[in-house]
Amino acid sequence: MTILPGMIAHFDISRPKSIKAVEKAMMEEQKIFLVTQKDVEQEEPGQDDLYEIGIVAQIKQVIKLQNNIIRILVEGTERAKLRGFLGETEYLHAEICLQEKEQEELPDEVKTGLVRGIQETFLKYLAVNPKLGKELQKQIAQTTDLEKLMDLIANNLPVPYQEKQKILEAVTLTDRYEVLVALLLREIEVTAIKNEFQAKVKERVDKNQKEYILREQMKLIREELGEDNTESDADGYLEALGKLKANKAVKDKIKKEIDRFKNISSSSSESAVTRGYIETLLELPWDKASKDNKDLSNAERILNEDHYGLWKVKERMLEFLAVRNLTKKGESPIICLVGPPGTGKTSIARSVAKALDKKYVRICLGGVRDEAEIRGHRKTYVGAMPGRIVNGLKSAGVKNPLMLLDEIDKMSSDYKGDTASALLEVLDAEQNNKFRDHYVELPIDLSEVLFIATANSVSDIPRPLLDRMELIEVTSYTENEKLHIAKEHLVAKQLERNGLQKGQLTISDKALAKIISAYTREAGVRNLERKLGEIARKAAREVYEGKKKTVRITEQNLEKYLGKEKYSFDKANTSDEIGIVRGLAWTSVGGDTLEIEVNVMPGKGEFQLTGQLGDVMKESAQAGISYIRSVSEEYNIPKDFFKEHDIHIHIPEGAVPKDGPSAGITMATAMLSAIIKKPVRANVAMTGEITLRGRVLPIGGLKEKTLAAKNAGIKTICVPKKNEKDIEEISAEIKKGLNIVFVEQMQDVLDVAFVK
Ligand code: ADP
Repeated sequence: MTILPGMIAHFDISRPKSIKAVEKAMMEEQKIFLVTQKDVEQEEPGQDDLYEIGIVAQIKQVIKLQNNIIRILVEGTERAKLRGFLGETEYLHAEICLQEKEQEELPDEVKTGLVRGIQETFLKYLAVNPKLGKELQKQIAQTTDLEKLMDLIANNLPVPYQEKQKILEAVTLTDRYEVLVALLLREIEVTAIKNEFQAKVKERVDKNQKEYILREQMKLIREELGEDNTESDADGYLEALGKLKANKAVKDKIKKEIDRFKNISSSSSESAVTRGYIETLLELPWDKASKDNKDLSNAERILNEDHYGLWKVKERMLEFLAVRNLTKKGESPIICLVGPPGTGKTSIARSVAKALDKKYVRICLGGVRDEAEIRGHRKTYVGAMPGRIVNGLKSAGVKNPLMLLDEIDKMSSDYKGDTASALLEVLDAEQNNKFRDHYVELPIDLSEVLFIATANSVSDIPRPLLDRMELIEVTSYTENEKLHIAKEHLVAKQLERNGLQKGQLTISDKALAKIISAYTREAGVRNLERKLGEIARKAAREVYEGKKKTVRITEQNLEKYLGKEKYSFDKANTSDEIGIVRGLAWTSVGGDTLEIEVNVMPGKGEFQLTGQLGDVMKESAQAGISYIRSVSEEYNIPKDFFKEHDIHIHIPEGAVPKDGPSAGITMATAMLSAIIKKPVRANVAMTGEITLRGRVLPIGGLKEKTLAAKNAGIKTICVPKKNEKDIEEISAEIKKGLNIVFVEQMQDVLDVAFVK
């Protein structure tokens, strides 16, 4: 080490000669000459092994440590030159020459300039070496004596002893200034370079570290998800591509996507998108098809096996299949089965698929509002997916499945595009061999798909779609038909579904009939099936718990299984009344009867309608009024009767949507009865639309309406003459015991309705 003037330092000494020197000094003025060795290793240095300039130091403290080591605290005082050793003694004894005496005198301005120069340089040095601290900075700023300033700086610089020696050897102030400033400037540069490199290295280390951690995390996540790395995935895709049955354009496109996939970082979101895309393309049945069974008698057998009744529907279905076999496939129209829920539409379609050995997929269109659900989202869209048609094809796995488009009438369009026109493109034989899904991007051939649609009501199907389809109507079942369906199909199905053997549960015919009439009220058999399921579940529990070996359901114990009866039919009024007439309505769950009430009271000629009335119904009420006014003379109605009275029409229990115009004659009859105070027969019901001139127009849903009338205990029904042929088609079972009167004019209706 090198000690500089003004520096206080302590160090340990162990060489006997040095210890002796300290002891000698302590006995005298406690002063000692310290000079630096050129080579640290030298144990016995001669004059040549030492620097020429050293320092006279004051010993401040001596501490004896163990092993003959002493520690001394010294303060450097004056520079001195080593002249030469003086003879052999126990310690090194030399002649020195003090240096400070030769100090030059500098003008004050020069001194001030030098002070400023060195202060500034040191501040710069501090800027890159902030560790030296604020305290020192303050001290430097306050010191104005050049020599003291330089000592202060020199003492505090963390530089090797060689540098300090150079400072020590610079005896004159100007020399020392040069040495010190040069040293500072070099240190500034070195530190700056060091800092810069350190920052770079740190940055690199940080980055490496971060990447390393992220990669490790990704690896873990991959492992958790059971994903392999990109390479092996790509290989898997290529293998699947080799096996794929598809044309060249498709294969090329997939190949291109796989190549792209290999080159994108597996951690990027694009990789996931591409992966999904490739997998979808590979799963699509491009040229894969199943072989159809063209045996019609087989088809007929299966249809009959699976369904009771539905003769007309089955016949139409078989005709359709025959035509399909004769003509080229793809050109046959699309079948649409229309009818109330639970009447076996879906189930017929499934049987057709079974009969033809076709794969069956069901696409539910109910509630679809966005065109993208049919045509897919573009790949750029977050979470993009193919549309339902392509998804259906994917799950079928062949290009020629039977695709059931369920509830086509429940589809609607909103601002996100026109669903109906997207579906048109799917169904149109002219263009569906090149159907474009936004996600898939490649044209897809739908021409070999056999589409069958279902709907509850024709009026809700968009017109252009309707034009493409051939309608087959599926009507409500009669109680007798329901009984047959339950006995021959539903009970067995529920037994199997609930793990019961044949014989473990029997339901008597009477019990079945009661379930149908008192526990369900529907056009189809869906609730009936549910009720049977409920019984089967309870029976299964009893059998399993060993309470019973066989469960027999009869009319008597039915309540135990299904609880209290739910429905009783709205029976006909017992007495004839004024202003109350029973109409027949057709609702989405089948037929129903509804009572129309009219009150006439003194007032200002106002006309009021309440209850669940559609616009069409309001208009037919108006038409009825006009008719009555036109015939008011015949019935002796005073001229200003309509000015002085208010008429109020009400339809109670009208919660179900009515088919619009079929209540025209009913309302007119009720109004006239109320006006002329003539009672209407209680056991008569009617349906038909009315014109201004009192002609009766035909209506729909006759089978359902007739059934409803019969269930309500009605004896006579008025039906428009123009519906005669529809009545002929209704089975005798329904018509039995009903007096059906065909009416052409309002007068015919009134003749039947009014009590004579
Ligand atoms: P929809 O599609 O018309 O709403 P489903 O086809 O779902 O009705 O029919 C409901 C249930 O009733 C199904 O389990 C079906 O098998 C059964 N079903 C309906 N009609 C018949 C029938 N004529 N013969 C046998 N089972 C029938």
